[in-house]
Amino acid sequence: MLPPRLSRRRLIALGAALPLLGACSAAPAAAKSFPKARSEAEWRRVLTAEQFYVLRRAGTERAFTSPLNGEKRKGAFVCVGCANPLYSSAHKYDSGTGWPSFWRAIDKGAVGTSTDYLIGYPRTEVHCADCGGHLGHIFGDGPPPTGKRHCINGVALRFVPA
Ligand SMILES: [Zn+2]
Repeated sequence: MLPPRLSRRRLIALGAALPLLGACSAAPAAAKSFPKARSEAEWRRVLTAEQFYVLRRAGTERAFTSPLNGEKRKGAFVCVGCANPLYSSAHKYDSGTGWPSFWRAIDKGAVGTSTDYLIGYPRTEVHCADCGGHLGHIFGDGPPPTGKRHCINGVALRFVPA
């Protein structure tokens, strides 16, 4: 029996909205389990507020604020949450967008992707494959040979010089 206020029509509308609600989740990667997963409380303890906002809440740092924008030395960019190597200086380029940009990840298994609808249309979200921390997004306007632009929040990365 349906409660009188919940008409069949209303139920259908709810059913249609549910998949969207799932896609709008603030932590797109949270549903999967990751090898270096931690509880929310643990992440709050080990990350700064800004790191937590980006990695665990899929936040975005302000453009042109990361010191890593100008980082041109040889080395690796590792996940600030779990130290997983994510990107190499060999694949970094100046996209002019104000966020550290790479045309590929350091290796195939370093990052994972999902689709998010946080700003109303689908985007390819990219996260650390080991801890699930949100890194940024991948766009199709990058340079050869991949044509991809990994647009990464500098606050999600730590640079390790070679
Ligand atoms: Zn990580």
